[in-house]
Amino acid sequence: MTKLTVDCPLCKTKVPWNDSQQFRPFCSERCKLTDLGEWAEGRRSIPSDAEHDDTTARDLDRD
Ligand SMILES: [Zn+2]
Repeated sequence: MTKLTVDCPLCKTKVPWNDSQQFRPFCSERCKLTDLGEWAEGRRSIPSDAEHDDTTARDLDRD
């Protein structure tokens, strides 16, 4: 059987990929919650499409 491990996305700890690791791919609940928190706070960059939306809205208004 292959021993598969993944790196925790937060702290890069090697995490065994098996059923006993309930927080995988994170090493712990702490890392999992931290990662979810970063997404919720928008600290991770997601490309904004605000300018495009604005242009589209004005075009529709003129039409
Ligand atoms: Zn971790």
